[in-house]
Amino acid sequence: MSLNKEYAFDWIEKNKKLLIEISDKVWEFAELGLIEFKSSALLADELDKHGFRVERGIAGMPTAFVATWGEGKPVIGIMGEYDALPGLSQKKVPWKEPLEPGKPGHGCGHNIHGTSGMATAIAVKKAMEKHKIEGAIKFFGCPAEENFSGKVFMVRDGYFGDVDAVISHHPNTMNGVTLESCLAVNSVKFHFYGKASHAGDSPEHGRSALDAVELMNTGVNYLREHVIQDARIHYVVEKGGDQPNIVPPYARSWYYVRAPERDQVEFIYDWILDIARGAAIMTKTEVKVEFLEGVYNYIPNRTIAELIVKNMREIGPPKYSDEDLKFAEEIAKTIAPEMKLAQLKKSKRSGWKRLVDKLIDDEVPDPWGEGEVSHGSTDVADVSWQAPTVEFGTASGVLGTSGHSWQDVAESGVGLGHKSLIFAAKVMAATAIDLLTKEDVLNKAREEHRRRIGNKKYRPPIPPDQKPPLDVWEK
Ligand SMILES: [Zn+2]
Repeated sequence: MSLNKEYAFDWIEKNKKLLIEISDKVWEFAELGLIEFKSSALLADELDKHGFRVERGIAGMPTAFVATWGEGKPVIGIMGEYDALPGLSQKKVPWKEPLEPGKPGHGCGHNIHGTSGMATAIAVKKAMEKHKIEGAIKFFGCPAEENFSGKVFMVRDGYFGDVDAVISHHPNTMNGVTLESCLAVNSVKFHFYGKASHAGDSPEHGRSALDAVELMNTGVNYLREHVIQDARIHYVVEKGGDQPNIVPPYARSWYYVRAPERDQVEFIYDWILDIARGAAIMTKTEVKVEFLEGVYNYIPNRTIAELIVKNMREIGPPKYSDEDLKFAEEIAKTIAPEMKLAQLKKSKRSGWKRLVDKLIDDEVPDPWGEGEVSHGSTDVADVSWQAPTVEFGTASGVLGTSGHSWQDVAESGVGLGHKSLIFAAKVMAATAIDLLTKEDVLNKAREEHRRRIGNKKYRPPIPPDQKPPLDVWEK
């Protein structure tokens, strides 16, 4: 292990207590996307204290920020998220019991996500200072990953313009890096406006907005035969009228359109817009399209993934205390074996069968999943078009824990999550130092990035004047 890495690890070890405290505070704040005021301030203030230049409230989001230390090239970016999920409030116990019923909870471990990234940035800065390493380290405080894709606004507004590589960590049930891509997506609402009338007495005067919603859905369901296999189209009806004896004057649906490539999403999306217009014509109603967000597909990077795996193996997965293991065993009892099996199988990780009888992942496999596409979407993808980007996982809970669950919330706030945080911070610090000091590796990552993108161009998937929906939680 090089001296500069040792120095960074040393800072992380010495500040373990503080880092865990910060992660636990963010866990307790459990703030929803775009209103993570206390969480983002806590992280930004800590970076400020350590001499970072902090620019707050960027890209039209009060809770987005970028913290920079150093000058010149290369510039290594670290990302951190801190938004919670609605309705997932949960105590730090291995059974389902909300802390405050109905309130948000950290069911995706973003309390760890933000803190591990912040810890990395500070630890790397310490090593850079001590060992005179050239370049800059940037921490991106990224709001609203769960719902409004904060990073897409930050990318569109140029905040990732000067980074040479970006590293991000996400709590997971597994250690390692997948090279899978993920689906590009558009999220959009369709508002239909008709005319109210007495549905019994004078239906001939009414124009039903609900009919339009239903006909549009029917049209889209016929479209399904003519889209590529990996496409996903899902919708909900948010508003369908008030009561049966009033012809509904207003109705609303919300759609996600997903596909492996951005242009495939756009092709399907344009067709759906035609179907919406068709439904409006058929019902003599008006349609208004409210575009909410768009996200790209993810560009993996094997060079950085292999570097991360090498560092994970050198550092070694965490050792758990008896208390951690006891908690893990209790949580494991609440997860059906078939759920665990399904999750392991779906991961497509080679040797996943070895994990069936394990409580917690204690291996670090080679990067896997090249050429595969996972069926979720993330705004990390848009960053991955700007520079070589890798998001990796460290085990933060028992195998089989599903994301966005009460188990995930509980695990993110106890020893299991804390150990994942410290492990991840060290892995990211080591990887950032490698990228800052080994020009050949960074060049190789850049070359791979260029090759994967080829002649495709990134065009922001959101319009230039689109603003983040800051008032969404008031609605
Ligand atoms: Zn997440």
